[in-house]
Amino acid sequence: MEQLKLLLDYQQLDIKISKIESEVKQSALYKKVVKVRKYLIDSQKLMQKHESEVVGINETLKSLLSQYNEANETVEELTEAISNVNSESSIKEVQMLLRKAKQEQTNLAKIEREILKDQTTMSTIEESLQKIAHNVPTYKTEFEQLKAKYDEELLKINEEIEPLKDKLKELAKKIDKETLKKYKTAKKSHAIAVVMLDGKRCMGCNMELSSKMAKEVTTSDTLLECENCGRLLYTKES
Ligand SMILES: [Zn+2]
Repeated sequence: MEQLKLLLDYQQLDIKISKIESEVKQSALYKKVVKVRKYLIDSQKLMQKHESEVVGINETLKSLLSQYNEANETVEELTEAISNVNSESSIKEVQMLLRKAKQEQTNLAKIEREILKDQTTMSTIEESLQKIAHNVPTYKTEFEQLKAKYDEELLKINEEIEPLKDKLKELAKKIDKETLKKYKTAKKSHAIAVVMLDGKRCMGCNMELSSKMAKEVTTSDTLLECENCGRLLYTKES
């Protein structure tokens, strides 16, 4: 079957091209390029995140400071009221003033703790931003150098692949359209899309076909798909 031979040649070439392309993606250089690029993208995202965090913390700090000032004023007022206590003041009144003063002191301490916490977070963010600002230029230079090297590699590989792709196109012209369509569909899920039928067993998925199907594969003029895996089947006799 001439068509089968053409399709098998097509498959062989197709696999060869994929292998070269995947080797590029497996290369240490490509992995480095991806890693450095990821660092740069992540840094950018982190910087944006930090920027919005800083805005949020600044707003909180502003509100905490005004709360602190208010609480401080209240404490001062209460302190003055307590210092003005005289023999005419009732015990209840004095007790209430003392209680209020104590409450306000607790409130003040709480606000102070929150301010301190926010200031600590702010320093952590600043440190992180400084680290990014320090690292990014180095990584950018490294990325540019790696990218240039990778582009060079890619050029070389394209020189190797382009003639193969041209050959593939030439072969495609000779192959029946319907068969090629079936091949491309099967290729989406399988690295090897055309496989031999050994007796009733598909050499792709290793499952046995029904006797009826196996017979059809043998007698059909066109290539049929395995009913289990969808690969195209041919027999020794094809
Ligand atoms: Zn199969």
